[in-house]
Amino acid sequence: MKIGILGAGISGLSIARLLSKHFETEVLERHSIAGGIARTREAEGIAYHVTGGHCFNSKYQEVMDFVFGEVLPKKNWHAVTRNAVIRLMGNEVSYPIEYAIKQIHELDQDLAIRVSSDFLGSNDDGNYGNLEDWFRKKFGNTLSDIYFIPYNRKIWNRDPANMSHAWVEGKLPIPDKRSFFKGLISNESDKMPHSSFYYPNSNNQNTFIDSLAEGVNITCNYAVSAIAYNPVTTQWTVNGEKKFDLIISTLPLDRITGLLQDVPGEILGEAAQLKYNKVTTMLWETTGTDRTWTYVPEDGNFFHRYIHIGNFFSPSRAYSITEVVGEKTYQEMVENGRKDAFLKRPIDYHVSEHAYVVFDENYERSTTAVKGYLQEKGIYTLGRFGEWQYYNMDICIKRSMELADEIVAKHNSN
Ligand SMILES: Cc1cc2nc3c(=O)[nH]c(=O)nc-3n(C[C@H](O)[C@H](O)[C@H](O)COP(=O)(O)OP(=O)(O)OC[C@H]3O[C@@H](n4cnc5c(N)ncnc54)[C@H](O)[C@@H]3O)c2cc1C
Repeated sequence: MKIGILGAGISGLSIARLLSKHFETEVLERHSIAGGIARTREAEGIAYHVTGGHCFNSKYQEVMDFVFGEVLPKKNWHAVTRNAVIRLMGNEVSYPIEYAIKQIHELDQDLAIRVSSDFLGSNDDGNYGNLEDWFRKKFGNTLSDIYFIPYNRKIWNRDPANMSHAWVEGKLPIPDKRSFFKGLISNESDKMPHSSFYYPNSNNQNTFIDSLAEGVNITCNYAVSAIAYNPVTTQWTVNGEKKFDLIISTLPLDRITGLLQDVPGEILGEAAQLKYNKVTTMLWETTGTDRTWTYVPEDGNFFHRYIHIGNFFSPSRAYSITEVVGEKTYQEMVENGRKDAFLKRPIDYHVSEHAYVVFDENYERSTTAVKGYLQEKGIYTLGRFGEWQYYNMDICIKRSMELADEIVAKHNSN
């Protein structure tokens, strides 16, 4: 049996690696190089994460075992302790903000009292009308107003009141009232996911990606433009020439429907409803910081996040990446960066294609319809945009492991 895997990002590479132990596989990638969203580009010798800064960790032991045991041994990674901050009223407070009440108290005593009483008095009844409602019920009104709502408005480029809360559970560190209170009376800080993470010793995430791609049969510079099924041979043909018994697609859901024949108008309509955001980034030489990243909820600042990528490296370097959602010009990035003396010199610039899935009011209906149609046709979909989910790299790997197990079990190979 020959399996065609569309796209050589983290998901395509992971599943190809796992399935090639049992079947013949071929990964088709439109770019000249594998890695997708997670790939970096070297600029002045610095690993520039063109689609935004990435760090790797996972709460799933099987994912860590796969990465350290089969892909890139643990000795080739160094651990980095997260030192993230949020810009608030022109100052910096620690992230996650729920643990920064003492710092907020130093800035504004009344605000700290309001944050605490709202959080402890919030009524989380488990029913949420939208994302704004979810924040208010989880964290109370004051924290929502000073941080969660303005930051999320920036990162999603739309009002959280018009968004679904479906993605958020399990993605954000959510303290309960007990741990919040503990934070008030002790010096305890968070033990949430990503409070530390790993970065390759080469100081470039591409080392991880290249190790993942090692031994995988990839055809690069190959844009998939047509996928057809022949019910007589029960085979798939890609671009009229490559034959496969099974197709796994990591291509964005809103694009794959356009590559198939005779897709009902109703499904094409649902695919057209799927929303995503691009991200524009710029790599800067900076004056230096000991932070790992900075969240910027303030309306007055053009960027939503600074990734201090130089502090992912060992030894540290004074470089950061500024991120803003949407398509922005080089000039806009430079002009806005120049307002912050910390950003010394622009080095490189990039506008991504698909970066963030948007969970709007159509999300549930449109993803269910499109995924259901593809499943009915026998196409497996996988990954951040293949499943249209807010997946990090580790979840892409976990989903690849699960799907590989399912396919191996179903097709009963040796
Ligand atoms: C700003 C930002 C920050 C992030 N930070 C983190 C982080 O800190 N930690 C973390 O773990 N994760 C992070 N992520 C998530 C992580 O990048 C993704 O989960 C992961 O890279 C997705 O991999 P994928 O293979 O599913 O998709 P992709 O990387 O999108 O791969 C899809 C592949 O398909 C190819 N393709 C598309 N169309 C075609 C076609 N027609 N023919 C052939 N090939 C095609 C693309 O070129 C691409 O290589 C971040 C994401 C973003 C956007």
